[in-house]
Amino acid sequence: MPSKTTPPSLRADTLAVRGGLERSGFFETSEALYLNSGYVYDTAEEAEAAFDGSADRYVYSRFRNPTVSVFEKRLAALEGAEVCKSTASGMAAVTATLLCQVRAGDRVVAARELFGSCSWVLSELLPQYGVITEFVDAENLDDWKAALSKPTTAVFLETPSNPSLRVVDLRAVSEFAHAAGARVIVDNAFATPILQRPLEQGADIVFHSTTKWIDGQGRTMGGAILCDSAFNDDFLGPFLRHTGPCLSPFNAWVALKGLETLGLRMERHCATALKLAKVIEAHPAAAKTLYPGLESHPRHALAMSQMSAGGGIIALSLAGGQASAYRFLNALSIVDISNNLGDAKSLACHPWTTTHQRLSPEDKMAQGIDAGLVRVSVGLEDPEDLVGDITQALDAAAI
Ligand SMILES: *Cc1c(COP(=O)(O)O)cnc(C)c1O
Repeated sequence: MPSKTTPPSLRADTLAVRGGLERSGFFETSEALYLNSGYVYDTAEEAEAAFDGSADRYVYSRFRNPTVSVFEKRLAALEGAEVCKSTASGMAAVTATLLCQVRAGDRVVAARELFGSCSWVLSELLPQYGVITEFVDAENLDDWKAALSKPTTAVFLETPSNPSLRVVDLRAVSEFAHAAGARVIVDNAFATPILQRPLEQGADIVFHSTTKWIDGQGRTMGGAILCDSAFNDDFLGPFLRHTGPCLSPFNAWVALKGLETLGLRMERHCATALKLAKVIEAHPAAAKTLYPGLESHPRHALAMSQMSAGGGIIALSLAGGQASAYRFLNALSIVDISNNLGDAKSLACHPWTTTHQRLSPEDKMAQGIDAGLVRVSVGLEDPEDLVGDITQALDAAAI
């Protein structure tokens, strides 16, 4: 297949457009979509060689598919990883990353502030297999240090976290984790490889929900795991091959084309989010405004040393609690009420009664979620139109 090998020294925006590019014999400009499950062989000997590994070729789309491979190579280039493996959703990536490496009796240390389903996998699913997780305060290094004073298999964290935008010190936690013999797994869904590359800051494994900013237009579900070849050969590769949570070629193609505009989109999402965060912070209806790019964020300096911008998510807590949060949401005329995030369309939700409803009030509070908290995913609409919509909704919330 005619292709140019993209030098790895190129910058992110070039890799996002050209990384992993492989053209078929038709010399198409845009990446081809190979919507197929199986592959054929000229001879029985060729089939045998494909299975004993002496010939490098596609065998079955549960293992590998040409469109999925281009997506994986491109994302690997962006994250600076040796290997990328994609999955049908972000949660499939989480489950595979954890289950492929833990054994009964193993111990995991995780940040308490996590995406709701990630907490469920750690606190409900893994104990069924004899794996216990100790949860710590994401921003408290003494907590991390104490929890990692015992042998540990894996460390699991999200930075910035959903929805309270806690920022974890990647270098410090990775150092404690490695001393305890643990691999550090980072959920990089909120930051994307455009803003943050955890593997360069000590992490061992990164995963994504590509459903969010990578697709970026609310079309497909998908996930991805980035790691080194040793972890893939020993743990992840065989687990994925035989359990089959594979990404469909069509969804891989949509996410692949999403990568081409990721840098451009994140620039706009971040610029508009910073603008809106300042407007919200100055409004009397907001008791608290959390955005890593704001100087008032408790971990602003750390966030800016790990990330190139604050991201597209803002969390605000309305002074009047849940009633006020509902007035704010119901008054929005451009921003939609939705539990999804990472879309071209601005979206807002009330985590207390939706994404984190399952948790007890005490657990919600421990994760920084109060009844007045609203999470806003900032879209690509005109920034001034969004300022107008958010301001009139804050006015309505203040009544
Ligand atoms: C959405 C999300 C996930 C789960 O991904 P799905 O694609 O919905 O399965 C995990 N972590 C974070 C931070 C997310 O936002």
